[in-house]
Amino acid sequence: MDLNEIKYEKKTAIESLSKVEQDSMFVYANEYIKFLNYAKTEYKCVELAVRELEEAGFRNILEMEKLETGSKVYFVNKERALFIAIIGSEDLQKGLNIIGAHIDSPRLDTKPMPLFEKQNIAMMKTQYYGGIKKYQWLTIPLSMYAVIYNKKGEKIDIVVGEEYGDPVFTITDLLPHLAREEMQKKASEFIDAENLSVIVGGFKDKATDTESVKANILKILNKKYGITEIDFARSDIRFVPNFKASFVGFDKAMIAGYGQDDRVCSYAVLASLLNISKEDKVYPRTMVGLLVDKEEIGSEGSTSMSSSAFELFVNILFEKTNSSNSGYAVLNALNNSYMLSADVSAAVDPMHEGLSDIQNANLLGSGISIEKYTGSGGKYSANDASAKYMSKVMSLFDKSQITYQMGTLGKIDKGGGGTIAYILANKGVEVVDCGTALLSMHSPYELSNTADVYMTYKAYKSFFKDIK
Ligand code: MN
Ligand code: MN
Repeated sequence: MDLNEIKYEKKTAIESLSKVEQDSMFVYANEYIKFLNYAKTEYKCVELAVRELEEAGFRNILEMEKLETGSKVYFVNKERALFIAIIGSEDLQKGLNIIGAHIDSPRLDTKPMPLFEKQNIAMMKTQYYGGIKKYQWLTIPLSMYAVIYNKKGEKIDIVVGEEYGDPVFTITDLLPHLAREEMQKKASEFIDAENLSVIVGGFKDKATDTESVKANILKILNKKYGITEIDFARSDIRFVPNFKASFVGFDKAMIAGYGQDDRVCSYAVLASLLNISKEDKVYPRTMVGLLVDKEEIGSEGSTSMSSSAFELFVNILFEKTNSSNSGYAVLNALNNSYMLSADVSAAVDPMHEGLSDIQNANLLGSGISIEKYTGSGGKYSANDASAKYMSKVMSLFDKSQITYQMGTLGKIDKGGGGTIAYILANKGVEVVDCGTALLSMHSPYELSNTADVYMTYKAYKSFFKDIK
């Protein structure tokens, strides 16, 4: 055998794409950038996805009496998570082709009673959500996304900062002239979480009879949205980076934007199913896309992957396809299912390459990353995919001309991380982690490679249709 066939060499994703495919890559990337700019919270992801699914002929599964081969359905789980399915021709017990991503991202949530004022400045107290380096959130423009329910139980949906002419919000940082002591602190202690308060106003207004800046803000909010101070306690208010997502570099080789963990994979799941649904073809296995919430805080709660909502959804699929839905049948379906845990991973940061074992690390631009296992230390808390399942996924990707690379998350004892992979693996599903590598992950401005982003979409489409 020729040595070139024996040894393995990493390729870049861009070199495997023809000129025509590179054009499609930029069309896809432009749509992805629009998605990042609109869907900055899990609420907005669900809202946008449902709108696009409806337009493509998908229907709310609860409003359908019966499902047939080729039926296209979705299930909204409490406004913040979404399941999508295209019914295949085979018996559900033969297994589902599942791809699961998450739609929550690190951000600043407000505390239940957030508004206060100090030295003529009105601010909102926040509590950070997910793993952030707190100092990265100072002196950047922030947008506010709020879902508020009033006393009558009516929903008020507010976005401030995204339209031209909107104000934005920000958190201050100390001037260097007075920071001599502060600069000696460790990065983790640099800013107290209690001090991550967002500036929301600075005027008193005699004309409207407000004696304080805080009172003036309350009056403005009441006039504009009909809300009172206690309504903060029945709200989900998030402050997220205001930056617009954009291509990076003279060659547009990269994309920067907030929330790419894990919207890069979520968008690929949605786009794949929308695209497949337009084909005039029936596939044997039922495809299921999962866009879940609360991954960043440990996958706990009713909208997370750990919630029984997923099993409920599988039971509804059985019920409405008139399949036997005994406990045995559903367990059997899960046991015969294949899944990609669609989440981002870390790429080697050229400024910190010592933290990675380079030959087992993801390089930005080297295609979608497959991670046989995640976790940390001695493979603790890892979903470790079997050799047989790895072979199945790799063979499919080879056949579908997907550029992929083998990754791990940094050197063994330097840290680690998990995804939703283990949750369905614990129910008997064959799962492997497979997603896009990022730089600056969990920062307000994450960086991906344009060809990797497109390769993620190609890989998911191929998996949904053809893994068996
Ligand atoms: Mn993630
Ligand atoms: Mn994350």
